[in-house]
Formats: sequence, structure tokens, C-alpha cells
Amino acid sequence: MDELIASHETGIRLGSFLGVFACMALLELLAPRRALTQPRANRWLGNIGLVVLNTSLLRVVFPAAAVGVAEYAQLSQWGWFNQVEVHPVVALVVSIIVLDMAIYLQHVMFHAVPLLWRLHRVHHADLDFDVTTGARFHPVEILLSMLIKFGVIVLLGPPLAAVVIFEVLLNAMAMFNHSNVRLPLGLDSVLRRIVVTPDMHRVHHSHLADETNSNFGFNLSVWDRLFGTYRAQPAAGHTDMVIGIDTFRDPVHCVTLHGILFMPFIGKVTDYAINRRWDTHNDD
Ligand SMILES: [Zn+2]
Ligand SMILES: [Zn+2]
Repeated sequence: MDELIASHETGIRLGSFLGVFACMALLELLAPRRALTQPRANRWLGNIGLVVLNTSLLRVVFPAAAVGVAEYAQLSQWGWFNQVEVHPVVALVVSIIVLDMAIYLQHVMFHAVPLLWRLHRVHHADLDFDVTTGARFHPVEILLSMLIKFGVIVLLGPPLAAVVIFEVLLNAMAMFNHSNVRLPLGLDSVLRRIVVTPDMHRVHHSHLADETNSNFGFNLSVWDRLFGTYRAQPAAGHTDMVIGIDTFRDPVHCVTLHGILFMPFIGKVTDYAINRRWDTHNDD
């Protein structure tokens, strides 16, 4: 399995990215959840420009990538699953679940630590919420996330296949749960019992701080329920809620590629970091 996935890795990643992107973009045209507030072409230019920049940067800075670290950990007998004998399927499934929990905790940390929020607010300052928002992260956040993932891999010792499957799933799910697609409410409520749906993650992109500081999950919805950060719906409703953050509303900062790249270095960190509790909570 490891060899099969390793030999087709680039094709699997690219095929999944282009396939899911095309599907979600088409569904956004056919069944949009909200009217966009900004011209799509301007936002897509900035957001997709960022994807190209981040992908190139990762290839230069970490050419071995996460799968290379997993391979090194395997050869060096580092990490839990390289030390204990478990069925390969168990190692695969548990590794994917643990990596997903690590991503959840990392996301909470990027909201909680003011310096890290400076980087992560780039993701939140998108003035609309669509398939391209899912890949909109500052290059420094991308590099830090990769280092954190390397740390988890060294401790966990996951099968190489688990790392590739997790990254492909995360990428596909990020495009799905950021999409501006109107899913039937019944389907949404069934899906969100297990995975993060667009309606669930959209709450996280609200301009209201207590809504921004909820629904941190990217794949499984269990982490928000388990750790107490789940919020079912936005107070203003999905069509009327305001997307973005109050401190950055100017398209020059929020939409253009140079504005996005410089955003962490300007302005002050306001009360978006989790430095206070909220009073109300609307569980379903
Ligand atoms: Zn966030
Ligand atoms: Zn998001």
C-alpha cells in the first residue's frame, strides 16, 4: 500500500485537488448559499495566487515533505507505530484520526496566541467564503503548520499511506467545507454528525468573535463537540451573517495578494485571540 501510494503521490494529490475544486466551484454556481459581496475574479486571483506561492515555497523549503519525514521516522524506528506491533489498518485509521485531532488543536492555538493570530487572521479576513477560502493561508502559517505536522509524525510514526491519505483528505475537505454551496438542511445535519460541513465551518468565519472562536475542526466534527467549541448556527443566519473580521474590511488589504502577504505585519491584535470567554452558546 505504501509503495503504491508513494509511486502515484503527485497524481493522487493533483487529481484530487483539481477534481474536488471543479466539483465545488460548479456546485457554487448551481446552488450558492449566499450572494458574494466581492467580484469573484479579484478574490480568486489573490487566493489562488497564494496557493501557487505556498505550494512552490513548500517544495523549496521542505522538499521531502511530511511523507519524507514519515519515511525517515520509519527507518529510524521513531514514533509509536514504529515501536509497537499493531494491525496495519489500525495504524492507518488511528494515525489519520490523531493527525486530525492535532490539526484541530493547532487551529485553536493559532486563534489563542496573539502572534499566531496575526498570521491566521489572513484566512479569516477573506470578505467572502467560498472554495478558494479553504486554501487561503499565509505562507508563514503554512511553514509553521508543516513543522508542527513533522513533530506529530515523529512522535506518532504513522504509515506513509496515512500521511498521504490525511493530506489529500484535508485538502479535499477544506475545499468542501469552505464552499459556498447550499446543501439540503437534512443532509447537512446528517453529515455534520461525522464531518465538518460548509454551514458548520461558515460559523467560524463570522465577524463576531464568539462565533469565530468556535468550530475549529477541518475534517471530523467530533473534536468541537468533545472539547466544547461546537456552535450549531450563526446568530444572524447564514445569508445575513457578516463574513470576515472587523479590523480588515478594505479590499486592498483583504483581496490583493500583496495586501494578504503584508497583513500579519500591520495593525494591532484585537480581542479576536481567545483571551476571554463567551456567555451564550447555542447547541442543537
Ligand atoms: Zn480559524
Ligand atoms: Zn476556514
